[in-house]
Amino acid sequence: MTAVRVALAGSTGSIGTQTLDVLAAEPDRFELSALGASGARPDLLIEQARTWRPKVVALADPVAAATVAAALPDCDVRAGEEALASLAEEGDVVVNGVVGFAGLSVTLATLHAGRRLALANKESLIAAGPVVQRARRTPGAELVPVDSEHCAVHQCLRANDNRSRVARIVLTASGGPFRGRRRDELASVSVDEALAHPTWSMGPKITVDSSTLMNKGLEVIEAHELFGPPAGDSGWGVGFDAIDVVVHPQSIVHSMVEYTDAATIAQLSMPDMRLPIGYALAYPDRVATPFGRIDWATLGRLDFEPPDLEAFPCLALAYEAGRLGETAPAWLNAANEVAVEAFLAGRIRWIEIPDVLYATLARHDGSLAESVDAVIAADRYARAEAWRVIERNESRA
Ligand code: MG
Repeated sequence: MTAVRVALAGSTGSIGTQTLDVLAAEPDRFELSALGASGARPDLLIEQARTWRPKVVALADPVAAATVAAALPDCDVRAGEEALASLAEEGDVVVNGVVGFAGLSVTLATLHAGRRLALANKESLIAAGPVVQRARRTPGAELVPVDSEHCAVHQCLRANDNRSRVARIVLTASGGPFRGRRRDELASVSVDEALAHPTWSMGPKITVDSSTLMNKGLEVIEAHELFGPPAGDSGWGVGFDAIDVVVHPQSIVHSMVEYTDAATIAQLSMPDMRLPIGYALAYPDRVATPFGRIDWATLGRLDFEPPDLEAFPCLALAYEAGRLGETAPAWLNAANEVAVEAFLAGRIRWIEIPDVLYATLARHDGSLAESVDAVIAADRYARAEAWRVIERNESRA
């Protein structure tokens, strides 16, 4: 078997380092052809390149790129805005582990190159849904989700060939660190509390999203993009009414698919992102290394409860933006990236995150997501609006 060439974008983040774990566990099967990152941690990128010896290293930040190029004289070091997207040509599979809207160029370049996209960057799919859907029609292009819930759904859907027999997708949510607290108990929670996730170890952006349930809201839109298009096309015909969320604090059931005869198929494993990463790399096969194996003798119990929409209003807001479609999810995503940044910087309180999203979305102009440029413009416009909302509140305080 010839090794599958893997190009990894976002190599210094949480998904990136765990992807390298998977490759290290299966050295005969996978070969790292290219590495790329924003450039925020050049020392780690240099260390990764020296260990793995990829032909190409890409950085978005040109200043960090100069440091990296000097340290790696035998390597093709690429810098600038287009550098990460150029990784798409370097792999049979491209892992997109970039954080936030900045991952859009990697998603589009990979699909346009007709390669497999192992997608951990949900924001690109959410913000640019209609544009990404068109790119998915490129011959050879394939999208396999790395997000654990969607990877679970992808696995559960293999239990049935008839695409019209899916009745419902049920996404599980851990509930985050504030599960069980009422709205009035959440007024003064700190950044450290929001960053203390009970089951998953992840980067700060997604961990805050998880504390507000915005991560689950974004995942509802992501599920609709992945599995929503008409049955028989690339999708399964699942509308927003057929996508439910249930809180499951142990994070062992990663999501479920209910069929028309009420049979529910679920995917279970201990919380370990290396399983979905390995799945997306090896699909339709599976890797031989067990990640997140369950010890049933000590597992204990699995609990389920409905989400508290009053304490966590972001979830309902995401359904609303998802149903509006076009650039509304791009606005929601941009406002959320700004609100999370402002919260982490101490400029707004945790409880004000949904307020920023509401106030920003109230100004959505109804523009269509007809091109990449339209999506990028919507993202920029929404970010500016969100900062204006935050600054207005600051001047009042
Ligand atoms: Mg997830």
